[in-house]
Amino acid sequence: MRSSLSDEQRPGLATATPPVRHVLSVRDLPRWWMEQLMAKAEWLRSLPRSAVGQRLSGKIVGTLFYEPSTRTRLSFEAAVARLGGTALGAENALEHSSAKKGETLRDVLRVVGVYTDAIIVRHHLPDELEAAAEWSPVPVISAGTGSGEHPTQALLDLYTIRREFGRIDGLTVCVMGDLKYGRTVHSLLRALTRFEGIDVILVHPEALGLPEALARELAAAGLRMRREVSLEAALSAADVIYQTRIQQERLRSAEEAKEAGALHILPGHLRWMKPHARILHPLPRVDEIHPDVDVDPRAAYFRQVENGLYLRMALLDELIGDHGGEVAR
Ligand code: ASP
Repeated sequence: MRSSLSDEQRPGLATATPPVRHVLSVRDLPRWWMEQLMAKAEWLRSLPRSAVGQRLSGKIVGTLFYEPSTRTRLSFEAAVARLGGTALGAENALEHSSAKKGETLRDVLRVVGVYTDAIIVRHHLPDELEAAAEWSPVPVISAGTGSGEHPTQALLDLYTIRREFGRIDGLTVCVMGDLKYGRTVHSLLRALTRFEGIDVILVHPEALGLPEALARELAAAGLRMRREVSLEAALSAADVIYQTRIQQERLRSAEEAKEAGALHILPGHLRWMKPHARILHPLPRVDEIHPDVDVDPRAAYFRQVENGLYLRMALLDELIGDHGGEVAR
């Protein structure tokens, strides 16, 4: 279906078809496509709801969540609804789906792919999702895999940085908290390797640093990273402060548990931050950002949530919309 949008309403994007069939890891996403998604998100949000409400009409998107989720599931479902599609979901799929009967993920995707045009999956085992996706007749989008990756969160994080700063290149990004099990940080850092002149400051409890293999991969990709133990030094040097939750449900040793919870952003820390700094957080927040910080204009985490809706709309539109090339010039 072609839309009746005039040329003036279209952004000046060079739109090409998506370079991937599934969105499972940031590793697969080239910069040009990330840029295209961000530009499309910006364009979709600029249009009245009535102008976008037909874009996925007749399309069905399945959501399978084997791990808990609030935001990611609802924001995908809201994105589908805004675009006029239908979302069909299995929440708590480990308990309430045929996984309970022993069905493999590969079979689940083959079956759900018969009913749907795309499947959004949150699963605890990254490798299993990658292998099973090969058997899916429709695109599979990861909504987070265990302590592995969360690619759509990284895309919306980039989009937030782009909106707040007008650019991504050349920024100093401080990632804080549970860098070991926090999948959003893993995906964000992989995404940042695609940009120029990024400096990364790592702030974490001793036992919760980046997994070694990931640290090596990022260094090999040329990402400049350094650890900082002084919170004041880290916060005062950063443009982007990306705070994360300690992933209590994934901690494995007494040592990890003992150290967890040490890093908080408190109102008193705001004076250390640059006037133009921005605080991001993938949410949910527990106590790692004091609620009084929320009123500071540098707190961008609720804006980040809204950006996620538009970015996920753009992603679905690109992968399964009938409008390929529509925004091209
Ligand atoms: N919502 C994010 C995730 O699914 C962050 C978190 O849970 O701490 O990874």
